[in-house]
Amino acid sequence: MTQAANETAGAPAPAHSGEALDALRRTLSQQPPAVLIDGTWRASVSGRTLEVDDPASENRIAVIAAGDGHDIDLAVAAARRAFREGPWPRLPASKRAALLFALADAIEARQEEFALLESLDAGHSLASIRKGDLPLGLRSLRDYAGWATKIAGEVPMRSADQAGMDYFLREPIGVAAIVTPWNAPFLMVLQKLAAALAAGCTTVIKPAELAPLSALRIGELCRQVGIPDGVVNIVTGEGASAGQALAEHPDVNLISFTGSTEVGRSIMAAAARSNLKRVVLELGGKSPVVVFADADVDKAAQAIVAEIAFKSGQYCAAGSRVFVQHSIHGALLERMHAAMDRLRIGAGYDETTDMGPMISQRQRQRAEAIIQHSLAAGARALRGGRARPGPGYFFEPTLLTEASADMRIAREEIFAPAIVVTPFADDAPLAAVAALANDSRYGLSAKLWARDLGTVHGLIGLLETGQVIVNGGGGEATLPFGGVKQSGYGRENGHIGLSAFTEIKAVRLGY
Ligand code: NAP
Ligand code: MG
Repeated sequence: MTQAANETAGAPAPAHSGEALDALRRTLSQQPPAVLIDGTWRASVSGRTLEVDDPASENRIAVIAAGDGHDIDLAVAAARRAFREGPWPRLPASKRAALLFALADAIEARQEEFALLESLDAGHSLASIRKGDLPLGLRSLRDYAGWATKIAGEVPMRSADQAGMDYFLREPIGVAAIVTPWNAPFLMVLQKLAAALAAGCTTVIKPAELAPLSALRIGELCRQVGIPDGVVNIVTGEGASAGQALAEHPDVNLISFTGSTEVGRSIMAAAARSNLKRVVLELGGKSPVVVFADADVDKAAQAIVAEIAFKSGQYCAAGSRVFVQHSIHGALLERMHAAMDRLRIGAGYDETTDMGPMISQRQRQRAEAIIQHSLAAGARALRGGRARPGPGYFFEPTLLTEASADMRIAREEIFAPAIVVTPFADDAPLAAVAALANDSRYGLSAKLWARDLGTVHGLIGLLETGQVIVNGGGGEATLPFGGVKQSGYGRENGHIGLSAFTEIKAVRLGY
């Protein structure tokens, strides 16, 4: 995602007519609130609903069903039936693959509609969705579709006198629950769903209540391309009821969750309390960026600001703690400041926007409180630090210095466009630099800007993170993604991500 993030600002964009946006708003306002269970859209059992906002205008754009434990019970029962009796896990793998490729084609044919929907619902700029979420989601879906025919166990070599045969199979894990956040709603749902379906699992999805609309659209396309009933169930609703019910459910085999560390912890506890369901947890981050004096300072400054502008800082792997070698401290700050000045802030669906609003007033107030707390403790804001007035949950791009490592801005995931910059001595040993970067309960991603290979390789070995991005490189969606420490448990993407949705059955065959 980072490469896409780096390329976001100033990306060329096809013209979007206000008519498309008006038509989408009309469609959404007429969409009845419904959950998808066993191939049918129906009202939630309680009949309760929730409103969904456009974070750029604070206007209501849709009403969704507030599903709860009763809907989850129905959805899990449908998924279990589809797993036990339905065709999905029994289909030839090539047929499952074909249906997933068909889903990718269907989404691709509606790319612009998805981009507009996601920008309206989650607030992100059209450019960031077109360059980031959409191509990454499609690449991930097609990659998993390809893996459907390549899931295999192993047969060890036999010794000459061995009677019988030993081998192991890989089987779909069963009913997979998918619980996703609002910051990359399309990508998170699609990536997890693709892995689950490729493995032959059936699913129940609980999307984030703040940005559930792309998940509902994906569910409808699953129906349209012919994925059998009961394989993809979607229950919108609140985390504390629908999400919690999934985590506690005795008949769910695995829960794949992306969201905060606190909720991840409660899901793991619920899994332990209920049926020891497997968990994959992609949680928060407070990612360090380390910039050495031999780096391309212009490129580094651009990329650091582009990444924090991508999703308005609401991106789990965003570099938010910058450590810079003393001799280029001033130069880097000046360039970052200038790059923040150039950001065009506005509604995500406005073609000229580089950075959209935050998702909600609550998230924005939380970010402001953390920053103000640290400013009162002696940190300095070179710019920003506050919400932007007016409708919409906009936040000023924020550059902070003179922060100590124990301040809230240095420790907590702010999830806003705010960066803390701290210099380190020109002659600091690599171990001391790594200690600064590693001083966090999180360990999701680290970014490194340096040309000297000894520095690069030395630091890669010392960083306690699930990912290291050097000089803004890479960006392939299929590399394993996930964190160490309190950033998570397990990995997503590629065959490693897929294996979480399988169980191993060892066979000792005698005759
Ligand atoms: P969140 O509050 O943890 O919510 C994530 C999802 O879990 C939402 O669907 C939420 O429902 C649901 N949920 C809430 N309480 C629950 C419970 N007790 N049991 C089961 N499900 C529950 O996170 P968020 O505020 O949406 O997203 C921001 C956080 O996610 C950040 O910390 C960010 O770093 C992290 N994140 C991590 C990654 C990654 O890949 N590592 C990616 C994106 C985001 P609601 O609909 O009620 O919110
Ligand atoms: Mg929304």
